[in-house]
Amino acid sequence: MKCPKCSQAMEPLNVNDIIVQRCTQCYGIWFHGISHKELKKIHGSEAIDIGYEENSRVLDRLKGVACPECGKTMQRVADTFKPHLHYEACPSHDGFFFDAGEFRDFKKESVLDFFKDLSWYFRKRGDGA
Ligand SMILES: [Zn+2]
Ligand SMILES: [Zn+2]
Repeated sequence: MKCPKCSQAMEPLNVNDIIVQRCTQCYGIWFHGISHKELKKIHGSEAIDIGYEENSRVLDRLKGVACPECGKTMQRVADTFKPHLHYEACPSHDGFFFDAGEFRDFKKESVLDFFKDLSWYFRKRGDGA
C-alpha cells in the first residue's frame, strides 16, 4: 500500500490485534475497517504515532487526498473537541488517515479536556462582560 499523502510505502503494524498501516516516510497512519469509537479505545498511541507533527504541517493542508484502499477522495474531518485537529476519513469502509502527531493529539481528548474547554469559555465570557 502507498501512503495517500506522500506516495511512499506503508508498513503494517499490529496494535492490540488491529492491523494499521504506517508510512515509512511521513509516519502518517492509516486505520481501516474500524469505527471512530474503536479508534478512541486503542491504547499505545505513542508507540504507533512516532512521527513529528512539525513535519506533517504541510501534508495536513493537502486537499482532495485519495483513499489508499478505494481511490475515492476522502473527507477532511475536524475533531469535535479539537477544531485545530483535522484528519481524513473514507466513509466507504471506515478508513481514517492521521498525519504524524495527529493520532496522539486525537487520543489526548478526554472528558477532562472537555471541561477545561468549558471553563476557558466561561472565563472568556466573564472577561468580556
Ligand atoms: Zn507518507
Ligand atoms: Zn476508501
